[in-house]
Amino acid sequence: MTRWFAPGRINVIGEHTDYNDGFVLPMALAMGCTATIEDAGDGWTVVSAQAPEPVTVAPSGLEDRAEVPEWASYVLGALWLLRDDGVEVPALRIEVDSDVPSGAGLSSSAALVCSVVRALDDHLGLRLGDDGLLDLSRRVENDAVGAPTGGMDQLISLRGEAGHALFCDMRDLTSQPVPFDPSAAGLTLLVVDTRAPHRHADGEYAARRSGCEEAARRLGVRALRDVTDAEAAVARLDDEELQRYVRHVVTEDDRVLAAVRVLREGRLAELGPMLSESHASMRDDFRITVPEVDTAVEALMGAGAIGARMTGGGFGGCVIGLLPDDAVEASGDDVRRAFADAGYGEPALFTASAEAGARPV
Ligand code: ADP
Ligand code: MG
Repeated sequence: MTRWFAPGRINVIGEHTDYNDGFVLPMALAMGCTATIEDAGDGWTVVSAQAPEPVTVAPSGLEDRAEVPEWASYVLGALWLLRDDGVEVPALRIEVDSDVPSGAGLSSSAALVCSVVRALDDHLGLRLGDDGLLDLSRRVENDAVGAPTGGMDQLISLRGEAGHALFCDMRDLTSQPVPFDPSAAGLTLLVVDTRAPHRHADGEYAARRSGCEEAARRLGVRALRDVTDAEAAVARLDDEELQRYVRHVVTEDDRVLAAVRVLREGRLAELGPMLSESHASMRDDFRITVPEVDTAVEALMGAGAIGARMTGGGFGGCVIGLLPDDAVEASGDDVRRAFADAGYGEPALFTASAEAGARPV
């Protein structure tokens, strides 16, 4: 029997920069998924504590992948891809159990995929190595499930380090841990899961992504990562929407680099204003926030946060706030009250610290 844990994540800063070959700064959470693998049965069986029914498929058969429920394809996808790569995979039973809320923007999907891929690598003695593990985990979400994610989620789930955020260059997929320990500075990272239903998130994500690609094409660069002067690039575009996209992505990349600098120099409090600028950029230029998210940010700032922003792809999901320790309790009350006053459902709040990435358990 082989058992691995892989965490969910929050992105400290750097939103929608990943598919523009840019920079991101995520951290791994204590929440995560545990995958347990054993040789059993005569097919591939996957069981989730969070799904109603186990799913069994025949490893050798040309089963119709479309007939498998979507959640199971996050697990079976790894087996299908390995088989396509020529790996002989025996009959297996894979059980998963996760405490990452699904669809909240905390990457329950990467926690699931990475725990399974890590456990498979170990159980089958594949020795995929750092790059191979990342590549397979990404392909499971992109190719087997068909979710167009940029790769950050898998990177942090596999490589996170306790007490550190991970500065990732999404062009060459290199990463460097950067000290991130708010508690040492008398600060708390508070997460507000707005529980707002994701509205048109898939279509909006695709529109942002293709808009960024179109802007890069018109600007004659490989990706928006290669734009160095946001205002000069904006002046060269005549499409108002593309102008806003470029301004967000280019300034967001700059904010990630600035955030890494202040964290490396031990000036964590200076991250606060960068978080708030990132939020304003997502709200006004990239236009991926929703009223619940903006309300949470405003309530946190009103309660004394030194910075707050939406984290994740947008159109719902979570907000993070950096708060003096003594302001945390009251800020939680303020967020709940603001949500009740606006007629929104009750949000979930929790504090977070940077934890380690995938590990055997
Ligand atoms: P997020 O990654 O932000 O939580 P996604 O839409 O990317 O949101 O992934 C959520 C999906 O991942 C779920 O709808 C489900 O298909 C799958 N999933 C995640 N965790 C589990 C789990 N423990 N059991 C079954 N499916 C899961
Ligand atoms: Mg996901």
